[in-house]
Amino acid sequence: MTSSTVFLPGSTVGVMGSGQLGRMFAIAARRMGYRIHTFSPERDTPTGQVADVEVCAGYGDEAAVRAFAQGVDVLTFEFENVPVQSVDWAAEHCVVRPSGRVLHVCQHRLREKEFLKAAGLPLPDFAPVDSLDSLRAAVARLGTPSVLKTAAFGYDGKGQRKIMPDSNLGEAWAGFEGQAAVLEAWVPFEREISVLVARSVAGETAVYPVCENVHTHHVLDLTLVPARISPEEARLALQLAERAAVALDLVGLLAVEMFLLADGRILINELAPRPHNSGHFSFDASITSQFEQQLRAVCGLPLGATDLLRPAAMANLLGDVWANGEPDWAAAAALPSVKIHLYGKAEPRPGRKMGHLVALGNSLEEATEQVCEARRRLVRR
Ligand code: AMP
Repeated sequence: MTSSTVFLPGSTVGVMGSGQLGRMFAIAARRMGYRIHTFSPERDTPTGQVADVEVCAGYGDEAAVRAFAQGVDVLTFEFENVPVQSVDWAAEHCVVRPSGRVLHVCQHRLREKEFLKAAGLPLPDFAPVDSLDSLRAAVARLGTPSVLKTAAFGYDGKGQRKIMPDSNLGEAWAGFEGQAAVLEAWVPFEREISVLVARSVAGETAVYPVCENVHTHHVLDLTLVPARISPEEARLALQLAERAAVALDLVGLLAVEMFLLADGRILINELAPRPHNSGHFSFDASITSQFEQQLRAVCGLPLGATDLLRPAAMANLLGDVWANGEPDWAAAAALPSVKIHLYGKAEPRPGRKMGHLVALGNSLEEATEQVCEARRRLVRR
């Protein structure tokens, strides 16, 4: 097998990870006649429920990883924190896309920032932190407010701490328990945006319209597409995402989270080499969903069209929506342009991503109004 091998419908695609991103990927893949195997340490998972085969083993279980890779034609990921060692084992038995090198960069904030900087891409000022002294030096250079983030395993604002002028740095650093970290300059952004870009085996790229993201308590709450930004700002955002995909030599899908500043500058916050929560709108509102696009890219097929069918708004459903009992699904379904997506998770813990809603509208305002109304209707009083 070479790096340009094509996997046609009927092939078996392996997915490392078993959450909702893998679930929607599996749904798209099965629709196109592929078989899906998923690998993770859990059972009865969102992906496993719709896959042909669900393997339950640890990522460090070499025999299990090798056996899994032997049973698939091509392997991909639904989250980037799979150990690179496991990817290397798998790559001895099947094609792996994107490559372990891409995961290695994107699973570590400091490596990712150094990669972006070396590629000449714009990002917030940052400094590596590995001791209290280096934290003091970093705060002296970057000022306050600033944000201290763990280098590894950070997502949805986890492992982050805002540093203010009166912050006790000793206490802040103690909270990181010696984990490598990055201090980031505070960005007074006007909007948070993201761009999904796919890159094929042949090096062809396809970008989706810019998403505008609204976060609550560091977790994505709403995505509005197309983002309410100027055409020049949108052009710049798409160009930066494409440049990041090319610089990574990516084969697959990449989500690029960015901050838009009041003066029109755009800084890259984070890269995720997989489908992304902000791209969920595409399942209902795009000619080709982000999940089908990931499949096309990793299977070596030509990429699909990324046109938006109508303005769209996506609202996440966290476990909090279940606070007063089972949500009123019928009340939300009574809004005919709203789509309900649920991930098959049994326990609706507060803050846990349980599902999402998407509304398509004649205008972005209408779509936003509909999706927010549907979510309001779900909560029992
Ligand atoms: P992250 O986990 O890095 O994506 O951060 C989660 C959220 O925290 C972002 O979506 C922003 O809302 C906020 N945030 C992160 N870094 C910064 C920063 N340097 N300046 C301002 N806000 C930030």
